[in-house]
This record gives sequence, C-alpha cells and structure tokens, in this order.
Amino acid sequence: MEIITDKALLRARRKSLSRGGKKLGAVMTMGALHDGHLSLLQAARADCDFVVGTIFVNPRQFDRMEDFAAYPLDLKADKDRFRAAGLDLLFIPSPEAIYPAGYSTTVRVGTMQDCLCAAARPGHMEGVTTVVCKLLNLIQPQRAYFGEKDFQQYKIVDAMVQDLNLPLRAVPVPTVREEDGLALSSRNRRLTPEARKIASCLYQEMHRALRGIRRGMDVCSCLEASKAAILSSGFEKIDYFDLRMEEDLSEVKAVQETQKKVRIFAAAWLSGVRLIDNLPL
Ligand code: AMP
Repeated sequence: MEIITDKALLRARRKSLSRGGKKLGAVMTMGALHDGHLSLLQAARADCDFVVGTIFVNPRQFDRMEDFAAYPLDLKADKDRFRAAGLDLLFIPSPEAIYPAGYSTTVRVGTMQDCLCAAARPGHMEGVTTVVCKLLNLIQPQRAYFGEKDFQQYKIVDAMVQDLNLPLRAVPVPTVREEDGLALSSRNRRLTPEARKIASCLYQEMHRALRGIRRGMDVCSCLEASKAAILSSGFEKIDYFDLRMEEDLSEVKAVQETQKKVRIFAAAWLSGVRLIDNLPL
C-alpha cells in the first residue's frame, strides 16, 4: 500500500494511473477504522481496479469542539487495517493542506438541510460536502463509496455530485452492525461498558416501530412508544426518531400516502455519545 501525504504527489500519482486506464474508487474516512469502513473498501475493490482511501479528521464537520478533541485517532492501527484489507493507496493530508491560510470556500447543498443531522448539527453537512468535494477533486475517482449508516450524508453528497456535474458515481453501502444490532461507529469506543449494553436499544426500537408501522398501526404512536422506551432504557436525549422518504427525506406521517421507499432515522445521546442509525421500512 502506497501512503501519500502531499497533494502534489497525489496529483502526479493520479496522472500516472489515468495513463494506465485504471478505474478508480475512493473511500473517504476520518480514521479509527472498523469493519464498516472496510466494507466500503470491499465494495470498491469489487468494482474498481485501484482504490484510494483517505484519513482526514475534518475539523469543519464538527459542531462541538469537545467532539473533535475527543475523536479517536490511531494512525498506525489504521494503516495496518487498510493495508491488510488490500487498499492500494492511502492519502493522509494535513489540515493545512486541505485548509491553507486564506481558505474561504464552502460547498453547501441546498436540499435536505432542514432535518435530521443537518438540523441538529449546524454547519456539519457543509463541513462534510466541502471536504468531500475537495477530496474528490484531488483523487478524481469514477466511484466513491458511502455508508448507509450516514444516509442523509450520502443523499446530500449524491445531490452535490449531480448539481456540480462531478464526473463520478456516489455508491451507497449497507450498514455493518455488531451482533446485537448496534451500527459500527468510531464513537462506540467512547461508550462505557454499561452504556454499551444499553446502546442496541436504539436499533431494537427502530425495528419495533417499523414492525408496528408495517402492520398498519399509526405512525406517530409507534414512533412515540419507541422514543419513550429509548429514554427509559437510559438514553439521555433523542435528537430525532422520524419516518422519512428516502428520495428527499421529507417526513412521512402515514405509509399508505406513498409507495416509494421509506426509512426510519434515529439519533440519540447515551453517556455523552451521540449515536445515529437508520433502517428501511
Ligand atoms: P467516518 O469515518 O465516520 O466519517 O465514516 C467514513 C465512511 O464510512 C462514511 O461513508 C460512513 O457512512 C461509513 N461508515 C461508517 N460507519 C459505517 C458502518 N457501520 N457501516 C457502513 N459504513 C459505515
């Protein structure tokens, strides 16, 4: 596995790959790698000739400085994991390389910003789209892979790709979970052992609400019952627990309204850690 930290070197390497006619895939991460990240790499390896991974803890997508400061980073372990999983090239830029002095551009997608994580975390989605746009311009892949765990992020990036005519496809990859259903996340390692036992309640309650909704029960009552159960299990706060259209993330109050794809979305706080997840109906 090649490791590049310099933008100019990455550009030069990219040029040599174009000459070889290789189909390039990109997997962008903030490190603290787990099997969810590696599933993106596996998907990329299955349909590309060469896969570029990135590790960059993007300061602009954190709405709380405590969260940024506490973000786990172990570059040595991450390099080993990517290497063992067959990554071809790892790009690890410095914050100064991405945001040099005088940097002033923000990429903001106009749609799907008034709900879920975009509403709960001001500035977060612009931080994501800005860095993803920059990394895509540097790597110039034909495909970029995104986890469905961050479904809104994938949808907003996909809208950016269409709106800005970026010459690539954003590909969604299913969420990888622990045995008890908890979605893998770099933040899970900040859960105390007691909190970890409670954490899968979020997944179980998404399932329970969906079961009720599928049986034709009232959407609002199912969501409210699950929210109450999540709070009584020990979660401190729920940011959202909503049923929404996959297409545009608009809220769904009754499923018979539409035949299109619908998903339940959840974000809640447990022992100071914000967990998010979603599942299709
Ligand atoms: P992050 O390092 O958290 O910024 O995530 C980098 C990429 O990995 C994003 O596209 C995430 O959606 C994806 N990802 C994170 N966790 C999972 C998971 N449990 N399953 C699948 N993809 C994931």
